[in-house]
Amino acid sequence: MVLKAYKFRLYPTGDQIRYMDQIFGSVRFVYNWGLDARSGNWDMIETMRYSWGGDLKTCDMEMVAQMRFWGLKDKSKEGYPKACGLKELSSELTHTVQKEKPWLTEVPNKPLRYALRNLDAAYKNFFRRVKNGETPGYPAFKSRKGNQSFQFQGENVRLDEVTGLVTLHKALGPMDVRLHRRIDGTIKTTTVSKTKSGKYYISFQVEDGRELPLPKPIRNTIGLDVGLNTFVTTSGGEKIDGISPFRESEKRLAVLQRRASRKQKGSQNWKKAMRKVALCHEKIANQRRDFQHKLSRRLVDENDLIAVEDLNVRGMVKNHHLAKSISDAAWSEFSRQLEYKATWAGKTFVKIDRWEPTSKQCSSCGFKNGDMPLSVREWDCPQCGVHHDRDINAAVNIREAGINRLHTNAI
Ligand SMILES: [Zn+2]
Repeated sequence: MVLKAYKFRLYPTGDQIRYMDQIFGSVRFVYNWGLDARSGNWDMIETMRYSWGGDLKTCDMEMVAQMRFWGLKDKSKEGYPKACGLKELSSELTHTVQKEKPWLTEVPNKPLRYALRNLDAAYKNFFRRVKNGETPGYPAFKSRKGNQSFQFQGENVRLDEVTGLVTLHKALGPMDVRLHRRIDGTIKTTTVSKTKSGKYYISFQVEDGRELPLPKPIRNTIGLDVGLNTFVTTSGGEKIDGISPFRESEKRLAVLQRRASRKQKGSQNWKKAMRKVALCHEKIANQRRDFQHKLSRRLVDENDLIAVEDLNVRGMVKNHHLAKSISDAAWSEFSRQLEYKATWAGKTFVKIDRWEPTSKQCSSCGFKNGDMPLSVREWDCPQCGVHHDRDINAAVNIREAGINRLHTNAI
């Protein structure tokens, strides 16, 4: 079964906005309270043991040192409960916190429970990545200034596709939603979010009830290489630019940011200018998402096997280069899109180990060249004499590695 996401713009009334702001605030409070309790109180080994399902063997002193590095302190003397798993926090919320803070009972209870579940998921994800040898950021506190969200279970949600009204909770009442796609399947989870510029969205996670298609026979294959300026280079020789589609919007963003910086901080004019900055940020993010969705759709439609580099491999060196880390983030989102679109279409998606010598090896004869600095964009193979474009050659090698992986059944 496949989970799909649908996202629509929401148009709440003034009363609904006020009530939703109260829910956002309560959810944020519960999340931050849980995070504080979990990261503060009990000793690190307990925290790790819980998150790894009691498997202490995997937890070594190096991890403990890392936990210290993330600033985990022993606050057990300050009256936090000893254990702080999802169950303990949930019961603590009902029996203590909601009694001490009655305003937490003025909002629906479900979103508060979801906040604790999301926190638990954030921890599980964090520890999984630590175990893989990555250096993820420690789960962060939610800020009043960032994007806001809360969640409801699917079965409580009533969506009328004819009138375009959605009801999440009786106290909130029916809300106007701009539906632009038909929802196909059963709603499992509903998320309401508010962007920094003050727009509201609702997204549904929907189970479509269909089985995944059988794998399609492999005829067309493609390898993709990622770069800084060229977003993607294909084994077919196509170079897809990842910067210039957004250059105009980014120029506009710089202008807006300059304008905002000239206003007096906190003034009405400053607030107006900051809202424009936030709107422009969102516009660029939407353009980028749209660009990636169209590109991943096309690549999956045109090919039966798609091979890419795995950027999240164990022991990857921490990168301090800003442009590089942004392009890595864009790439991991793009890779995620390729993967799920390929899976839905019965196509084959392969991730290749990053440390295979894809850029140094000649894709015609297999000769392994010595170290090549990134500035070398083209080279001639000393063995067979073929002239290579560095990125296209790498993409061809990635495709070959993908096909090999398929033949050895090691996917
Ligand atoms: Zn060669």
